Amino acid sequence: MPLHLIVVTAERTVLDRTDVQRVIVPTTEGQITLLPMHAPLMASLAIGELVAVTPTGSEAMAVHGGFVQIVRDTVTILADAAERVEDIDEERAEAARARAQRRLAGERITTEEGQVDLLRARLSMERALVRVKVRRRRRGTGAPAMTDRA
Ligand code: ATP
Repeated sequence: MPLHLIVVTAERTVLDRTDVQRVIVPTTEGQITLLPMHAPLMASLAIGELVAVTPTGSEAMAVHGGFVQIVRDTVTILADAAERVEDIDEERAEAARARAQRRLAGERITTEEGQVDLLRARLSMERALVRVKVRRRRRGTGAPAMTDRA
């Protein structure tokens, strides 16, 4: 039996498919691969690339923190934000990256507020870099997986 993979954010269901053979998930403890019959598990999601492997290829997404749960062959991803590769706007991500970079370059950290801004800029940069990476690597796909040994 394949996995049922559901990716949801506060706003919407981003992905829901029942033909997933394995899913590679970025967690804060490192990347994990989930297969059918996996023991129940919950972990926190990192900012990174998620890959769902199906009989017809693979589907890549950018995910940006949250939680992953697997129980009885259902993988539920509760993500702070998530985008399917075809929905990623590369220009927007590039602009966000440039903005974050400017903030990081100009920052003088003397206050607690400054520290929070710095952290926000770093996270924004991380999200943008993952979006660009996922989009560029998978551009024009439909083509079979880059075999997902990422
Ligand atoms: P920006 O500064 O461009 O808004 P951000 O990292 O602050 O980027 P988020 O707060 O992570 O954006 O996301 C807000 C919403 O916009 C989410 O629904 C997310 O999926 C979507 N989103 C953000 N950046 C992109 C992008 N480059 N392409 C497609 N959707 C995006």
